[in-house]
Formats: sequence, structure tokens, C-alpha cells
Amino acid sequence: MGARLPSADQPLHPQRGEAPADLIRSTIGVVGHYCVRCGAELEPRMIEGREMQGCPNDDFILWRDPKVASAVVVEADGGVVLGRRAIEPGYGLWCLPGGFVNDDEHPADAAMRECLEEISAAVELTSLLGVYHVPKSDAPSMVGIAYTARLANGAEPKAGSEMLEVGVFPVDSLPPLAFPSHREVIDQFLTSRESPAASSRRHGASVAPSGKRPSPAREQSPPRRKL
Ligand SMILES: [Zn+2]
Repeated sequence: MGARLPSADQPLHPQRGEAPADLIRSTIGVVGHYCVRCGAELEPRMIEGREMQGCPNDDFILWRDPKVASAVVVEADGGVVLGRRAIEPGYGLWCLPGGFVNDDEHPADAAMRECLEEISAAVELTSLLGVYHVPKSDAPSMVGIAYTARLANGAEPKAGSEMLEVGVFPVDSLPPLAFPSHREVIDQFLTSRESPAASSRRHGASVAPSGKRPSPAREQSPPRRKL
């Protein structure tokens, strides 16, 4: 199914190191920002050795915080579930299910919600794969939190509204992915399968919100299946 897609893995999102601090600073310098409390134009202010923007009238500081996003490696039929994107960025390319974490939800809940939305399937998270930094120059950078999961009993992935189609691919022959960060997640997944004990020690953290216990990983099962 990869034949219809571009052969190169297009770096639609900046790779690690592609968002130099100078560029971020210059962008912030040319765009005016205003205090959310009094409306005054913000001024440069040194905070803990970093040049930030602050209000001249009160203590408001414009912190440049990252966005938090989840991504999920859903294991199914000996492969992983990918969706082909029906939206930009990355229209027509494949990606892991995932998306931004809302401020009132645990990242694990966000991961499961995104699976319901994007591949129309309930999943059970099985492990925390890793935490990633995704630098961006044209938007807030991202902290990515990646999980492994398996399909809940009876769940059959189908394309959600933001996907053209979904498919199960063997991890060693994936189609071009929309985001380099998802390639990084897949590579971490392959490493964790080779050495699960080392991986869990390295990342050792609870995968699920309190009251939800992750289930043990499922045995490998048959090959690729088109959904
Ligand atoms: Zn102010």
C-alpha cells in the first residue's frame, strides 16, 4: 500500500536541532505581545538568565511553554496500526494515532481518547515507551509522550474523521511517516522489544492514571492485515 505514497520520509516537522534558539527569539522579537491582565505591551526581561517578555506594570511573564502530545504504538496482528492522514500537516502520509493532551486529562487518557478518535478503536495501554522533545520554530515546541497499546477486546480499527484509511504494518516495512518524531517512537519501540527489561528500567514510570492498570503485552500473532 506504500506504492501510492512519496518515497522520501518528508521532514514536515523540524527534526531535533532544527529549531535554533536564535530563530525562536527573532520570531518572538518581531511579534508584539501584550499583558493578559492590563493590556500593556510586554517588554524584554531577564528571568533566570533567559530573555523573556514581561509586563512593565505587573508581574505577568509570557512563558514559552511546550505543548504536550501523545502518540501510541498499537500492536495488532504482528504489526502496528497506522492511519493515513486526511488533514494537514502530513496529508496523505501515515502516522501513529495520537494528539495533543488537554489540560484536564492525564496523558494516558489523552492517548486512549486519540485512538478512539483517529482509528475508531478502544485500546489498553501496555507500557510507557518514552518521552520526547520535538523542537519547532513556527509554533510552540512539543513534549511527546509515547505509549504502547493493544486493541481492546473486539476492537476493529477504522478510519476516524481525520484519517483517509487505517492499516496494520509490520514494523520493519512501514510506509513513509508524516512526522520524524513518530519514526523516533517506532525506533524506541523496536529497541524496547529487543530489550524490554532495559527499556522499562530506563523509562520506569507508571503508564496509567491511578485506578487503571496496564495489561501485559500480547503474544505476537499473524502477519500484516489490511483493514
Ligand atoms: Zn500587565
